[in-house]
Amino acid sequence: MASPDTGSQLIAQSLYSLGVKVIFGIVGIPVIEVAEACIALGIKFVSFRNEQAASYAASAYGFLTGRPGVCLVVGGPGVLHAMAGVGNSTVNATFPLLLLAGSSETTAGPTKGAFQQLDAVSLLAPHTKLAVRPPSLEQLPESIREAYRTAFWGRPGVGFVDLPADFIQGTPREKITISPVHPQPRVSGSPAQIRALADALRGAKKPLIIIGKGCAYARSENILHKFIEATNIPFLPTPQGKGVLSDNHPLNIATARSAALKNTDVAVLLGARLNWILHFGETPKWSSTVRIAQVDISPEELGRGSTDPALSVTGDITEVVTQLHSALSGWRYSDASWHGLLSASSAKNVAAADKKAAIVKNPLGYHRSFTLLREHLEKLAGGSPDDIVYVSEGANTMDISRSIFSVTKPRQRLDAGTYATMGVGLGYAIAAEIAYNHTRETRTSTRKRVVAIEGDSAFGFSLPEIETMSRYRLPIIVVVVNNGGVYRGTSDNSPAWGTEVWDADKEGRRSAQLLPSTALSFETGYDVVAEGLGGRGWKVRTEEELERAVKEAWAYGQGPSVINLIIESGSESKLEFNWLGKKESKL
Ligand code: ADP
Repeated sequence: MASPDTGSQLIAQSLYSLGVKVIFGIVGIPVIEVAEACIALGIKFVSFRNEQAASYAASAYGFLTGRPGVCLVVGGPGVLHAMAGVGNSTVNATFPLLLLAGSSETTAGPTKGAFQQLDAVSLLAPHTKLAVRPPSLEQLPESIREAYRTAFWGRPGVGFVDLPADFIQGTPREKITISPVHPQPRVSGSPAQIRALADALRGAKKPLIIIGKGCAYARSENILHKFIEATNIPFLPTPQGKGVLSDNHPLNIATARSAALKNTDVAVLLGARLNWILHFGETPKWSSTVRIAQVDISPEELGRGSTDPALSVTGDITEVVTQLHSALSGWRYSDASWHGLLSASSAKNVAAADKKAAIVKNPLGYHRSFTLLREHLEKLAGGSPDDIVYVSEGANTMDISRSIFSVTKPRQRLDAGTYATMGVGLGYAIAAEIAYNHTRETRTSTRKRVVAIEGDSAFGFSLPEIETMSRYRLPIIVVVVNNGGVYRGTSDNSPAWGTEVWDADKEGRRSAQLLPSTALSFETGYDVVAEGLGGRGWKVRTEEELERAVKEAWAYGQGPSVINLIIESGSESKLEFNWLGKKESKL
């Protein structure tokens, strides 16, 4: 590679030598030169409409590829918008992100009021694993490499490098050697910890393995498959742990989730935390006497909340499961009553779900339309979901779709995640399309179709990214589940904001807010917006229209397809999200 003439070329070469294949971001002064230098080296630059979506996309790319996704933004407001992705990456603990942002010249004093001036390092330091402004132009490569390495070694998180304009535009004074990053060393569990956990499993009456998205990130699928087959222990995937082992595996007891959590006496969390998603490991969802073991790369995580530190293991999941597999070699769980209890609960729940899916409604309801959508998609994909990547966000949309859409391969389901972040869907879908089909960094042999199932409110956060999908001709299918509101919607005859009503008590007319805070416009034409942004759109009200739209969207390979699925607005009336409710959720 030729010696760099400018700081921007030096930055591009640093990223290239780290193996970076794609950058997500938005350019402006002073980072345009950086993006152009990267493109000149063959690195793809995916230009977004909002830094939020770009930062979400980059972090999802990190989850999908196992190396930090890179996001490039301008300083000041660009950094503030990208903070959404920083927070989302940190909280998800499996979405490594390298954020690079332009900034004002190093010669500008702190109160100068320079263009988009912001002390981004001070702002981001508490929210990242490493936030640096290189002390000189010549130290750009080392700062970038360290921020990149730190983002994915240990517990994944965020590395940040501030790129001053004078460094970007300056000339290196000496020849600089750029050193690569080695793969992260894999940490094994201590033999004593492994023995304790193996003994606990041997002694368990109702053991349960919980497969979290840490397993997906750690690429533990092969050893986990062997372990589960050998030990015969039932397993429960978390929402993004779905697919690490197929939803069709006979030991997958996702359809008996409540019964499994409530009755297990020894549960092992593999790459999952006892947060709201798992009801904190507390009663009434769990038994008060359960022992919960945890395997995690982060030692600080172990022993938090209801986990039992004596049974927990620090280490990489692939390594620890390999150790556990050999510690339990020759042992097989064989109490049929636990399997029987779970099968009975599963059969009951599946029958209840089938009943809901059979209810024909006009306008369409969630359960039936999702079931039909799944059937059409799987048929078009050759009879299985193996080559479909699902992205899902929204409240009811995400909650209900999670159990209806099967996932059979690892890292093929992305959702609002640990932070329940709305607005991630379109960025995630773009990241998945690029990772699977364009840079092929995920190393699968077949082409994947990315399908984003979006609540109408969640979709609105990142709606302009449909134009991004069109510009790069990404054939992503977006289904907007349109009930005209947050959680539940309004019907077309809702009175508008500020309607005058007669108030007898106050003896006169007053202006009232009759529109609930959850309301969005009724039947918004997202399909028409999609056409305007360069994609294709369908408005769907009936089962026949749904089938036709899915077929046509599948066949359209030139850009995004938006299916505006109009569903009943008011009857899914619960405002209580299943995960948070005290009641037992069925699936
Ligand atoms: P879920 O949302 O699926 O419940 P969480 O985000 O709560 O999962 O937990 C994921 C956990 O995985 C985090 O605590 C993180 O530290 C852990 N983790 C990430 N990578 C690895 C790895 N290679 N080995 C072990 N644990 C990991």
